[in-house]
Amino acid sequence: MLRAEGVTLGYGRTPVVHDVTLDLVEGGVGLIGESGSGKTTLARAFLGLLTPTSGNIWYGQQTLKNADMKAFRKDVQPVFQAEALDPRMRVGGSIAEALPRNARHRVPELLEQVGLSPDLATRRPHQLSGGQRQRVVIARALAVGPRLLILDEPTSALDVTVQARILDLLAGLDTERLLITHNLAVVGRLCRTSHVLFAGRVVESGPTADILAKPAHPYTLALRDAVPKLGGEPPVTTGRTEARPAGTGCPFRLRCPLAVPECEEAPALRDVDGRQVACHRAEDVLVG
Ligand code: SF4
Repeated sequence: MLRAEGVTLGYGRTPVVHDVTLDLVEGGVGLIGESGSGKTTLARAFLGLLTPTSGNIWYGQQTLKNADMKAFRKDVQPVFQAEALDPRMRVGGSIAEALPRNARHRVPELLEQVGLSPDLATRRPHQLSGGQRQRVVIARALAVGPRLLILDEPTSALDVTVQARILDLLAGLDTERLLITHNLAVVGRLCRTSHVLFAGRVVESGPTADILAKPAHPYTLALRDAVPKLGGEPPVTTGRTEARPAGTGCPFRLRCPLAVPECEEAPALRDVDGRQVACHRAEDVLVG
């Protein structure tokens, strides 16, 4: 339904995402990376909130800038963190606001769909737990019957048990999803395909199960080892995340334990073991 083709974009003159091409395919897609990797910026472009400086976001057969945005807003809904709920509004009002006027009777049904009692409709967000608030955010997104949810770190503020329940809920929904996260374990639950971003570039793409079982890029390996199981904290890898200027070699080389002189040349994405990897030494990572 959505495709990024050669997308470069950023804020002001500084590109944050560099020449990214990827499809939102069926079975869930994960965008994985640390803070500063460009994943949220790319997600905002998929939502039509940012316009690429070059390249295009395709929505079906049309670029997003030429698309029927009314249809798009019905098809594609964001799920942000629960803090995005208006603290002054009652839960039922927040959900009803997303519904057409003649469908507001569906609030109790939507609350039940996300595992909440309809009685909570009269509460305000501060009267709910973190997990309940996140369910309300999901109910609100589901109100218009979207085909795709774009979820930005939907569980990172929750404790591990609540996080697992929210993931169960998301996994059981009959809606496609793009999940933005730093946590490979979360992606393993919800996404058949994953793309790992570092410094605004895709460094590894392919089936999530393969990437989790055997990363082929040193950065993916560092992310996986930093978050061995479902849990809250962002990974502590090895320091800097900023982009290297284009054309000055592999963007990961200042952090990479496997860097060799060849890495002064930027690696292109290439096919390695059933996925795409931008690393001169991907084969060594796989056997290591
Ligand atoms: S290309 Fe070189 S520096 Fe970059 S990730 Fe691979 S081994 Fe490390």
